[in-house]
Order: sequence, then structure tokens, then C-alpha cells
Amino acid sequence: MQTIRNIIFTDFDGTFSEKDIGHKLYTHFSNGANLPFVEKWKNGIISTRDCMLGEASLLKITKEELYRFLDQFKLRAGAAELYRYAKLSGIPFYIVSDGSDIYIEYILKKYNLEEIRYFANRAKIADNRYILDFPYDNGDCTRCGCCKGVRIREIVGDKKNIWRIIFIGDGLSDICALPHADIIFARGDLLKYCLSNNIKACEYGDFFDILNWLKNHEKSSGKHPG
Ligand SMILES: [Mg+2]
Repeated sequence: MQTIRNIIFTDFDGTFSEKDIGHKLYTHFSNGANLPFVEKWKNGIISTRDCMLGEASLLKITKEELYRFLDQFKLRAGAAELYRYAKLSGIPFYIVSDGSDIYIEYILKKYNLEEIRYFANRAKIADNRYILDFPYDNGDCTRCGCCKGVRIREIVGDKKNIWRIIFIGDGLSDICALPHADIIFARGDLLKYCLSNNIKACEYGDFFDILNWLKNHEKSSGKHPG
């Protein structure tokens, strides 16, 4: 009998990190002038990419200001523990994000977790501007900057049936990941989306909930342990 192996993909903003850092950053450094872009994005009028480009164009920011701002943010409780447990257990673990690498890297380093593999859009600060770059090809997806569904498909490849794909998220930028996941952990807007679209999802409070679930299910095989 083929053993099914767990593989974990987690969103970053508002999921692995407690707060939506990208949103806080754009809002703080634009004094809220970004919010009409966010409203349009939530209503599906503009793509994530256009939303972020619009928001980033409003910022005037130095590297020092950015890093000082980032120092207030924390990982969600249990996030580091879940990663370390996955590492010890040989469970592949990836962060898939439609945010920016500049703050993901900073926060991961702060927690000595810079070894975690992540996929995100790129950002740099030059001449006091926040400059975005979108290095990933998203295939048919016109919504995302760095599409989580496409990243999962690339990593898992044609071996989907040997993996139990666990996805953890909190928001509308996670939607493309859902069709690829065997187990969905959701909170916030993602949970609401799952409930209103009849998609089975487990609600979580923090990552210790997921760690406990994983410890209980790690030994079991089969695609849908419930
Ligand atoms: Mg999020």
C-alpha cells in the first residue's frame, strides 16, 4: 500500500505572521490612501498585482523606516513550532505568499527561520520608493501576483496522489490554492469564503491547533482523514 506523505503550504500575511503585514505597511506609509485600491481588489475589480502596484506607488519610505516598522510584528503562536516539527518529521514545508519578500525575509530572520523556503513577489526600496517586481509566471491566473495554486502545482508536480496537501490561509489571496489542497485550515475571510462556497475547511485559532492535528494524523494514510 502506498504511504501518503504530508506536505504543508502556508500563506504568510495574517497566517504564518499574526498580522497582515503587507496591508499594514501600505496603509501606514500611505496614511490610508491605499484603501480605495484594497476595496476595488476585494470586489474583484482589480487584480492583486494592480492593487499592489497602486498601493506601492503611494509610498515614500526608507529602508530604516521599513525595518523599524517591521519590528512590531510577530509570527502567529505555534508557527515556528509547526515548522520545526515538520522539519524533524521530514514533512516538506513552504510559505506561498502574494506579499513581498522584503518583509517576509526580515521577519523570518528575526525568528532564525530564514531557512524556510518561500515564494513571494519581490520588493526593494530605492530612492525612497517601494518598487515591486513579479518574477513568477502564473499561467492562466490573471488575479494573483504570485499565484499559490500555480506554486503548489509546480512543487507537487504529477505526483499529487502520493501527497496529502495541507494548506493554511486566512484571506482571499488564498483562493487559488484551495482546489489543490486535501486539507484546508482557514480563518478570517478565507473561512467565510469556504463556508459560503461549501468548501470543507478546518477552522484554526493558532498554529498549535494545526500542530496537534498533524500529530494525530501523521501516522494515518489515505487522502481524506477527515
Ligand atoms: Mg493572508
